[in-house]
Amino acid sequence: MSKLTIEQLTDIENKKILLRVDFNVPINDQKQVTDTTRLKAALPTIRYLLKRKAKVILLSHFGRPKGQPNDKYSLKPVVSVLEELLGQEVSFSPTLLGSVAEVAIANLKPGGCILMENVRFYPQETDNEQQFAKELAALADYYVNDAFGTAHRAHASTEGVTHYFTKSACGFLMKKELEYLLPLATSPEPPFVAIVGGAKVKDKIQLLSKLLDVANALLIGGGMAYSFLHVQGYKIGNSILDADNLHLCEELFAKAKSQNKKIYLPIDHVVATSFSNDVPTQIVEGDIPDGSLGMDIGPKTIALYQQALANVKTVFWNGPMGVFEMSNFQKGTFSIGETLAQSNAKTVVGGGDSVNAINQAGLGDKISHISTGGGASLELLQGNKLPGIEALTEV
Ligand code: AMP
Repeated sequence: MSKLTIEQLTDIENKKILLRVDFNVPINDQKQVTDTTRLKAALPTIRYLLKRKAKVILLSHFGRPKGQPNDKYSLKPVVSVLEELLGQEVSFSPTLLGSVAEVAIANLKPGGCILMENVRFYPQETDNEQQFAKELAALADYYVNDAFGTAHRAHASTEGVTHYFTKSACGFLMKKELEYLLPLATSPEPPFVAIVGGAKVKDKIQLLSKLLDVANALLIGGGMAYSFLHVQGYKIGNSILDADNLHLCEELFAKAKSQNKKIYLPIDHVVATSFSNDVPTQIVEGDIPDGSLGMDIGPKTIALYQQALANVKTVFWNGPMGVFEMSNFQKGTFSIGETLAQSNAKTVVGGGDSVNAINQAGLGDKISHISTGGGASLELLQGNKLPGIEALTEV
């Protein structure tokens, strides 16, 4: 990787580091943080800086307060949780700029840490306003970005700010994301199989097309599979159909043919008579009868996909195989998760719902890498440049 990393920032003792983190954590009405995953993910970088006696200024967004201060979206409830995780005091600044913030930062001791209020309380953040970015940058000596989940946004705290620092580095979380994801986009160790599920063809076609260039095979599941099956002439009953985008399915088939690559589609399905967990289900092979809709991949498809995943060296998975939010239609998604967990391959899972499924099944620690950034990981795999990464110092 050609970007400056946190370990390459050498003279950090006593220096103020503006550390962009992703503390966009769930907080309930009682102002309790209900899931600390994102806080824990940032700990290696925070601890590294504190141990080296830097002064750490934490900056994050939280929710969508639309450029206005709003108590509902305050990051204050994060302070006590972070203090417990770090085992040290964390101060809090209710503003980012002005004398209150300046005094709070000036009071930081080497090895001290402060959390700043939600950067999205300022409309200049999402507008990537340069004056605001400059003022943010004036708070610190160096910039470290560990917020991979927002790296695909050119905001003041992710992109604009870097123009006013002499050194902008990536933190450990960002570095790990790039180490796993970048090779997948260009030169994954073969055999490489990609599994893509989810609801809509339109949302995933660019990903599928890009993955096809580097993968040995694609396994397609979820609602989007029915559009591909429809194009192949199968009956799909009332299954979800992305009627406006069938040409994209045809283009992908043509591309696979020209590259001599295999696209796997479901050969059997768990069907229901309505989009509900409370109606009888049935397993059908091939055509789906009128009045039924495909809700999950069937057992033969699971076996076929498991076979396709045997003896591969690299796997990437995005998107559920069925309507896994409903218990009757979880098996396909969870079985694929199990297969990845048992695989000796390098396994990478990216994108919200497949990550949720892996975590729900308690398989998180058996996957080589679970990306913390849904949108950002897909952008990267689709071959797009991420502004928050491009802006970091080149080495
Ligand atoms: P995505 O965000 O594109 O990965 O899509 C995830 C959504 O796809 C989940 O909410 C699933 O319930 C939905 N999904 C998966 N399989 C199906 C299906 N067979 N029919 C309708 N929706 C599905």
